[in-house]
Amino acid sequence: MQPDILTLLHDVFGFSGFRGVQDQVVGRVMAGRPTLAIMPTGAGKSLCYQLPAVALDGCCVVISPLIALMHDQLRAAQAVGIKAASLTSVDADWRETQDRLRNGDLDLLYVAPERASGEGFRNLLRSTRIALFAIDEAHCVSEWGHDFRPDYRLLRPLLDEFPDVPRLALTATADAHTREDILVQLGIPREGLVIAGFDRPNIRYAVHPRDGLNRQLADLIAGNPGPGIIYAPTRAATEKLAEALGRAGRPTRAYHAGLDPKVRAANQTAFIASEDMVMVATVAFGMGIDKPDVRFVAHAGLPKSIEGYYQESGRAGRDGEPAQAHLFWGAEDFARARMRIAELESARQQGERTRIAALGALVETGTCRRAILLRHFGENPPPGCGNCDNCLNPPPSIDATQTARKFLSA
Ligand code: ADP
Ligand code: MG
Repeated sequence: MQPDILTLLHDVFGFSGFRGVQDQVVGRVMAGRPTLAIMPTGAGKSLCYQLPAVALDGCCVVISPLIALMHDQLRAAQAVGIKAASLTSVDADWRETQDRLRNGDLDLLYVAPERASGEGFRNLLRSTRIALFAIDEAHCVSEWGHDFRPDYRLLRPLLDEFPDVPRLALTATADAHTREDILVQLGIPREGLVIAGFDRPNIRYAVHPRDGLNRQLADLIAGNPGPGIIYAPTRAATEKLAEALGRAGRPTRAYHAGLDPKVRAANQTAFIASEDMVMVATVAFGMGIDKPDVRFVAHAGLPKSIEGYYQESGRAGRDGEPAQAHLFWGAEDFARARMRIAELESARQQGERTRIAALGALVETGTCRRAILLRHFGENPPPGCGNCDNCLNPPPSIDATQTARKFLSA
């Protein structure tokens, strides 16, 4: 890596070095090579385009699916002095941003896919120098992904109009199918695939059949004094659970997209500052929240996918200290999932069925949970992680013993 890149890394971002595959990804981008980076949440994907954005001549166009996400990143980039702006429906300074872009006064421009693919935006890009296209949350381009956004499919003509501009796709969540699909949809050759390790060895995974959920959760909280997140399936359930669990004395709050924005923000701020709070939330909670000392994450019901589960449970133990992930499930979760799938357009049903089957394998296995998770992300872990419920307390292999006993007593 050129020394000036490391100097920028230090002087602009304040980091003493790269983490994991960041240097590989940044190196490829600086060399102009198309890349798909698969890196777990918290691995530092933003830096992989922000650093080249600063280092390269011209502006880096970042495609991102959510305005809230864009603005979070924008604030963070501006805070370290990067010349950054966004063009979204809630930005008032469009004219100024367009002028800055034309005058080469922007390093980073955040834009939503539907905007990026429009003719007006393409015209604007023709009048300036573009350094890089960064496609964040790139799994959104795939129907196999867990969060398909049709607008992502419209990006390809834009990318192809600027064949000399390198493209960098980034995501935390791509199984083998989704990964292939992203490469094809965004025109990235297979040699451009960079995959970071997915293992989070400090997280202890455990799965439990639901059996008196409130008591199960109360026990969990009682045994875990640090901050924790409980994911509940509905908004109503978050509030009910928060109230019930809060009675035991631990500070407990609810978080979901239907709360008054002020209450929501206050609850989030309180959680981030707290050393013992339990947040009962829908999956709306967590994206972009950087709290390193979350000691446990519990799912009160089946998550939507293994990717979702990995991402949500991965909010535990980002500081590397021991942390726990508990999943509580019931047969009715699978029945509900099947009903949900039946209502989808047929093109999406197969992908969803595959996802639910993968979750079924995770909850029903008597073998290493971590191995199942990691294999899902294309890794080939050694058998037995020693830090999940099944490895720590191997379930009795009922079939063998019962069969043996029957045979002996016959
Ligand atoms: P992702 O998008 O992969 O989930 P982010 O880009 O939001 O992750 O980065 C997660 C955190 O890691 C941020 O707080 C960021 O400042 C920090 N970070 C990124 N790269 C480095 C690095 N090289 N050294 C130290 N911290 C880093
Ligand atoms: Mg990110």
